[in-house]
Amino acid sequence: ETTTEVDLIGKNEVLPMYIPREKFSHKGQFGHSLIIGGSYGKIGAVTLASRSALSSGAGLVSAFVPKCGYTVLQSSFPEAMVVTDVDKEEITAIKFKIEPTVIGIGMGLGISIKTSKAFETFLKTNKTPLVIDADGINILSKKKTLLKSLPAQTVLTPHPKELERLVGKWKDDFEKLNKVKIFSKKYDVIIVIKGANSITVYHDNLHINTTGNPGLATAGSGDVLTGIITGLISQGYNPLSAAIFGVYLHGRSADIAVEDFGYQSLIASHIIDYLGEAYIDLF
Ligand code: AMP
Ligand code: MG
Repeated sequence: ETTTEVDLIGKNEVLPMYIPREKFSHKGQFGHSLIIGGSYGKIGAVTLASRSALSSGAGLVSAFVPKCGYTVLQSSFPEAMVVTDVDKEEITAIKFKIEPTVIGIGMGLGISIKTSKAFETFLKTNKTPLVIDADGINILSKKKTLLKSLPAQTVLTPHPKELERLVGKWKDDFEKLNKVKIFSKKYDVIIVIKGANSITVYHDNLHINTTGNPGLATAGSGDVLTGIITGLISQGYNPLSAAIFGVYLHGRSADIAVEDFGYQSLIASHIIDYLGEAYIDLF
């Protein structure tokens, strides 16, 4: 027998999580986020996630991409450092010398055999906290034994289709939530069920977000969320707080941005540009 705890997440719930920034702070205190993903034609996903990690407050951001992403990232996002795979077009071996605080992985990654193998090999030796999105989730769904290799409290951010691949089909919301709770307990993972009013699930606890709007239904929106959550873990938020606060900030940023752009014209970059406003709006 279990009891389900449900809470609605608004400003009053995230304020106590907020970590203030001290006068004498330095970038070393805010961690090093590593974003791993991208493939030919999908480097933008990594650019968006990397920018989001830095704009949410990470001290340093590196990106790991196939070679075709090198110039794209270095010129579009000079604040990031870039490490490349040996392959031009897709990730084939995840090797780097840096020691990141947290890794956000999966956006634009693709699910080719080579990339899936590289992801699998990486998971088997990795000990760094993870945020996994998109094709990272899709690869896990195809090979569920890999789920046992995830660090405790890994954050997964599936959209509805990715969630279905991960936990199987459901007939109603009740069954969906039950499946996700069981999955969260079985593998000790935090699952963000994305959609209007995203729900962050950890074991029997459901945290229902109250920010966000249909302007978020746009390309790259999820890549931005993954970057924000990664950046929050980087600077010292625990994974559950990072997921809850990240979903809140992502939605709040879009709520402020939509005043200037409207639902139709809001694009993922705007969510990043308005993150500062979302932080300022907390006080
Ligand atoms: P993705 O499908 O991976 O790009 O993720 C989409 C992001 O936008 C998630 O954070 C969703 O929660 C959010 N989102 C999508 N549609 C809506 C909506 N109608 N209202 C609020 N948020 C949305
Ligand atoms: Mg996505």
